Amino acid sequence: MYIIETKGLTFSYHKEKPLENPVLQEIDFKVKQGEYVAIIGHNGSGKSTLARHFNALLLPDEGEVLIKGVSTKETGEVYHIRQCVGMVFQNPDNQIVATTVEEDVAFGPENLGLPPPEILQRVEEALRLVGMLELRHHAPHLLSGGQKQRLAIAGIIAMRPECLVLDEPTAMLDPRGRAEVLELIERLNKEEGITVIYITHFMEEVRDVTRLVVMKSGLVVLEGSPRRVFSRQRFLKTLGLDVPPVTELASCLRAEGLDIPIDILKVEELVEQLCL
Ligand code: ADP
Repeated sequence: MYIIETKGLTFSYHKEKPLENPVLQEIDFKVKQGEYVAIIGHNGSGKSTLARHFNALLLPDEGEVLIKGVSTKETGEVYHIRQCVGMVFQNPDNQIVATTVEEDVAFGPENLGLPPPEILQRVEEALRLVGMLELRHHAPHLLSGGQKQRLAIAGIIAMRPECLVLDEPTAMLDPRGRAEVLELIERLNKEEGITVIYITHFMEEVRDVTRLVVMKSGLVVLEGSPRRVFSRQRFLKTLGLDVPPVTELASCLRAEGLDIPIDILKVEELVEQLCL
């Protein structure tokens, strides 16, 4: 069974005539447990709208979204669906709800109605996982952007979701904050086995994902390993998307006649090819 599966998902924000101008058009999208999937695409291509379907923030006009086989249209299941799929958004400031770090992380588990010792255990575990246990008594608004976003992730982790959906979580961060958050997400996937769906604009952030999904105008237009997707450089350019800088450099060198493969993703790989 897939953890997330959409079947013919079609959606429009204009409810009077939903099928005339759909933002999502018959999307069939599947994610297996433990995968690390990135969704890329130009602004307005429908990435956020798709992501919001994964925890029933939006419901399809046509087709369906199944979370572990359960339709998001089953109103009685929304609570379980949101516990299974946690969402992290772009702006960390909008996700802070309390005046200390540990109270902020406790907010979700408290709403689950868990007994206090269990809440405490979950808060400590989540803060340890994101490397912020020593900041537990700090005020969230004084944290750096990267720390605030790690705190937002801790708040979701404390709900013990099986899947994390992150909608451009690094867009408002400086390079250091971006690196911190990306490292954390990769660790949660590899070491904790959490399924990750990652939406981003930054191509260099998606080189290590298991699968890359490219969207354009509400459609999935390309899908595959980062190596396969980034080797379609010309097609990506027509969508207004770049490839990682090192892939672009390799392609310029190839155009100059050097014998370099088209699917270079990392600096070390290019160095190795040049030193052959
Ligand atoms: P992306 O995440 O790829 O930038 P979005 O899913 O945010 O794309 O947007 C897809 C399309 O839906 C865009 O044309 C956008 O203007 C429109 N849209 C997004 N949110 C709303 C909304 N709340 N109401 C009406 N239209 C919206």
